[in-house]
Amino acid sequence: MRLYSTNSPDTYVDFGEAVLRSLPTDNGLYMPEHIPQLDDTFWQEWRTLSFHEMACRVVSTLLQGAIPEDKLTAIIADALNFPAPVVSLDDKYRVLELFHGPTLAFKDFGARFMARVMAWLTRDDDQTLTVLVATSGDTGGAVASAFHNVPGTRVIILYPSGKVSGLQEKQLTALGGNITALEIDGSFDDCQRMVKAAFLDQKTSLACNLTSANSINIARLIPQMLYYFESARQLDKPPVFVIPSGNFGNLTALLLATRMGLPVAHIVAATNINDVVPEYLETSEYSPRPSVATLSNAMDVGDPSNFTRMQELFGNDWKAMTDKITGFASNDAGTRAAIREVCEKFGYVIDPHGAVGYLAAKAWLANHPDDTTVILETAHPAKFPETIAEELGPDALDIPERLACLADEPKVSIPMAADPTDLITWLNQP
Ligand SMILES: *Cc1c(COP(=O)(O)O)cnc(C)c1O
Repeated sequence: MRLYSTNSPDTYVDFGEAVLRSLPTDNGLYMPEHIPQLDDTFWQEWRTLSFHEMACRVVSTLLQGAIPEDKLTAIIADALNFPAPVVSLDDKYRVLELFHGPTLAFKDFGARFMARVMAWLTRDDDQTLTVLVATSGDTGGAVASAFHNVPGTRVIILYPSGKVSGLQEKQLTALGGNITALEIDGSFDDCQRMVKAAFLDQKTSLACNLTSANSINIARLIPQMLYYFESARQLDKPPVFVIPSGNFGNLTALLLATRMGLPVAHIVAATNINDVVPEYLETSEYSPRPSVATLSNAMDVGDPSNFTRMQELFGNDWKAMTDKITGFASNDAGTRAAIREVCEKFGYVIDPHGAVGYLAAKAWLANHPDDTTVILETAHPAKFPETIAEELGPDALDIPERLACLADEPKVSIPMAADPTDLITWLNQP
């Protein structure tokens, strides 16, 4: 498998380089040179295969030998060891629950696969691979959990002191082992600036064997294709997928799956008021802008990083994109009302991100009453206890054991000033 950068379509890297570099130096994004179609044998059998067998066939068709079959099979089994069930609210509304992984959000799929692929790629290196990541909350937790106890790797997480929720902080600071949390006296932007400075410092970057677990890493998108296959094969006709979106990685993964042959009726891109993509689909104007804080905070993105990939997949043809994707945006009042409505109508507790999806599904179904929608539930509602309690009362939630037990774990972090030099000095200490 070869990949090119969207900014230099004529130069190629292999899969390993794209994963370890994460971002091309020309600031583009890595894209597969060729997206192979799944063959007839696959489509004859796909509904009867085990999830693991189906997953291996899809990923190995895409990777074309970049990872040997037996290794790939083991990586997939180890990374995707939790279910992605489809729950029927009724005939029209299905919910694809992507929160059964260790950190209760869909990012576990991508992060766990990427961690194991990176460990395999660097298996012959004597030097430990250091993953440096800045987080405003959820990504750091997924990355930390994904790399925890993965041999030959360590993770350094920078997070802004006092600016992540209590449980999020525990997800970053309670693991120990090969995970270190640096508690930065500053903002998320400071953390990002520090990480960038460390990467740009050649000496540090080489000495520490630095890599990034950035969310635009191609290895994170690949496993995210699989739950679309898994849910589509449970229905007798191609569904409309409704995707609560921020950086549009999830939606890009679905586009890759459709290029491999997965049949879908339509795609609905659901956003909160950070609606640059729905606006683009409506008007053909793309106007990135600073993000605005909302209840569905993992989707507060004003300039989605995967938008370039979406455009590339449609040959920069706005009309072609609008034939396949429709956008729908809603505000926080709508999100709150949707949380109540889903509970009253269906007895289901949906999180604020899924609620944005529900509103978009409802809008779609109003004009397409014969379709079946599959709404991605991207996080467990227990990650947003305040909002759920405000709308549904204090007893609506069952807190999953793996979240509840975190509360008692001790927090271990290293305080640091918001100064890139301090980070570089710290990284270089013997
Ligand atoms: C990251 C995230 C999203 C947005 O996903 P993208 O792939 O960035 O569009 C939505 N919901 C939750 C809970 C997330 O953590």
